[in-house]
Amino acid sequence: MIAVQSVETDRRANLFHFTRLQRPIVDRADGIYLWDKSGRRYIDGSSGAVNVNVGHGNRNVIDAMKRQLDRVSFAYIFQFENEQAIELARGLADRLPNGLNRIYFVSGGSEAIEACLKLARQWAVSTGQDKRWKIIGRMPSYHGVTIGTLAVTGDDILTKTFDAIGRPMPLVPAPFVHRDHDNLSMEQRGIRYADMLEEKILEEGPESVLAFVMEPIGGAATAALVPPNSYFPRIREICDRYGILLIHDEVMTGIGRTGKFLGGDHWSCRPDIVALSKGLSSGYAPLGALAATQRIVGPVVETGGFLHGHTYGGNPVACAAGVAVLGEVDRLGLVENSAVMGELLRGELEALTRRFPFIADVRGKGLFMGAEIYADPLAKEPLPQGLNANLRLIDLAFERGLIIYSRRVRGGPVSDNFMVCPPLIVTSDQIGEIIAVLGDSLQALA
Ligand code: PLP
Repeated sequence: MIAVQSVETDRRANLFHFTRLQRPIVDRADGIYLWDKSGRRYIDGSSGAVNVNVGHGNRNVIDAMKRQLDRVSFAYIFQFENEQAIELARGLADRLPNGLNRIYFVSGGSEAIEACLKLARQWAVSTGQDKRWKIIGRMPSYHGVTIGTLAVTGDDILTKTFDAIGRPMPLVPAPFVHRDHDNLSMEQRGIRYADMLEEKILEEGPESVLAFVMEPIGGAATAALVPPNSYFPRIREICDRYGILLIHDEVMTGIGRTGKFLGGDHWSCRPDIVALSKGLSSGYAPLGALAATQRIVGPVVETGGFLHGHTYGGNPVACAAGVAVLGEVDRLGLVENSAVMGELLRGELEALTRRFPFIADVRGKGLFMGAEIYADPLAKEPLPQGLNANLRLIDLAFERGLIIYSRRVRGGPVSDNFMVCPPLIVTSDQIGEIIAVLGDSLQALA
């Protein structure tokens, strides 16, 4: 008989995830809260990995998944269509702008970006543009951890070890406009950063460039970095001028997170391909999607179809979760709540910068808010590398029962930053609760 080990021993033996610290074992979750096995409560001020948009324990989502499990838990997408995938594709197509109505399902964010890159390349090949293969990304940025997504990710910590296997792509600077010391206005800086894309295209040779990939509002690597309005139309203009596809990574910013359905909707952006995940299933199942226009998908389908496909793509239970999540987003008015609560959160974070002058540059949209921790906020002088004040802050908050979001990033003008991104169901009282604990944590960090 196999010896029964303690949970403690088992987890040390079997788990291999990249958390820095031993974390408590979770027991249950409801709304914006989680509880560990010892009964301690945590406010989910990060919505997990900025994905639990509809909150924990949503009965309608759970029941929809249970119903689907009772009918068909799995049917291979190469053998059967399923109603849930069809309905979710229609639901997305109805909500996405500018003809982004051809949908392809995968199991997560990295897979979604990976599929976007492959679809772009296949579009080029199927339209006789074989020489186009370079996909320009930004530094810093985060697009996932698979070999393909790392090639367009700007973060030396994550990428360097694997550069030998993948093929690192050209990167342009992310628009950290608030850090620049020059006489330009913010809007002029937005143009300046967009023009860096054109300079890179010319440097690389326009005929070799296939696509540009970016988050409309930068997430994990840049803590809710919002470019000036001028950035977006200029980027589209440059892509059009050189026949380059624009891929928006909306894995974090999609499904209402920023107070619009897509982050790019704040500027009426017209990407050719969009990656979605996270909020799409809100954590109830592994799910991701890409949405593309017929202009891109048409030639690929006509020349034999997309050379891609995962076992769990279009999984009926995951898609049932997605359909129910979209239903809840509508029923509970979560896009609107994100916009309204986001402004409240912004005001509260601004107030914290007055109490704690080492944090500054509060930014973001909706419930996608971030701020920087500086050595000298006026001079925009970052803290010395290695101090990791952001990681210290998330630990201090965690000890006090609040979860916030931050990553260690290297490359480009990053400093220590953090994000506050509660589920989109958050109330004004709960924002108050988050800010109170965050204030205590900042006090402890000071
Ligand atoms: N793209 C962005 C913008 C992300 O924030 C993430 C995850 O944080 C990913 C892609 C990768 O998603 P996943 O962790 O589901 O693979």
